[in-house]
Amino acid sequence: MRIDLHCHSTASDGTDTPAELVRNAAAAGLDVVALTDHDTTRGHAEAIAALPSGLTLVTGAELSCRIGGVGMHMLAYLFDPEEPALLAERELVRDDRVPRARAMVAKLNELGVPVAWEQVARIAGEGSVGRPHVAAALVELGVVPTVGDAFTQDWLADGGRAYAEKHETDPFEAIRLVKGAGGVTVFAHPAADKRGRTVPESVIAELSAAGLDGIEVDHMDHDADTRGRLRGLAKDLGLLVTGSSDYHGSRKTCELGEYTTDPEVYAEITRRATGAFPVPGTGGA
Ligand code: AMP
Ligand code: ZN
Ligand code: FE
Ligand code: FE
Repeated sequence: MRIDLHCHSTASDGTDTPAELVRNAAAAGLDVVALTDHDTTRGHAEAIAALPSGLTLVTGAELSCRIGGVGMHMLAYLFDPEEPALLAERELVRDDRVPRARAMVAKLNELGVPVAWEQVARIAGEGSVGRPHVAAALVELGVVPTVGDAFTQDWLADGGRAYAEKHETDPFEAIRLVKGAGGVTVFAHPAADKRGRTVPESVIAELSAAGLDGIEVDHMDHDADTRGRLRGLAKDLGLLVTGSSDYHGSRKTCELGEYTTDPEVYAEITRRATGAFPVPGTGGA
């Protein structure tokens, strides 16, 4: 069983449509794939409609959170997408991405970059708009050679010259909301320090005590030492350990299934979830 529990589509900042994503996941030999777009479940219906037989879809989202001034991402799986409290918070965060992206465009204009909101909006399409879309506009304009090169202090990295904050959820509140909607929480790439500051282990311990289910350990942004340390921490705290690609199509370098999750951990996630069931593929549209 090959299980990849963290992927993005055009419903946020990935480049595969949800239908393309599930087809590519099957072609990559995956048995289980999770669709975890930033702050939205909008891609789920299309992914389910296109789901090839032999592939199971885990519905989810990656929730933007912040604690002590440090941004972090919380993967949420198999929650009820209609549950009102989580739905309201998810939409608040997703909708606030629009004025925030406009604020980044304004900062770029002040820095002399002739980027227009219409350009970013075209690149984002229907997806919840994020920094990778702004970064793609900078690539189009020849300001930076790749999307990754826009994530520096000169441009869009946390605290960078053109960075703007968005509304983000307190992670304790996120855990409470996801549990209230029958879902399971996994702290995404908790030690990805290339992206900016990360939360200390003491906070991970507090999140664990508050009901966090697991941490993502095998991820492209963690080196071997970091993975070892996180595995030890998970053992001490009784947290599940996941691995996943964080696939974004052509907007990032990682491949589907580049990192995977142990089938026993996946089984435990499905046992704990009560908000939704994994969807077995029936052939697709
Ligand atoms: P946002 O949610 O709009 O703040 O954008 C954060 C997203 O940008 C992350 O989820 C990643 O997909 C992407 N990202 C963050 N850091 C980098 C980086 N160094 N290179 C490429 N993409 C990045
Ligand atoms: Zn992303
Ligand atoms: Fe993330
Ligand atoms: Fe992600």
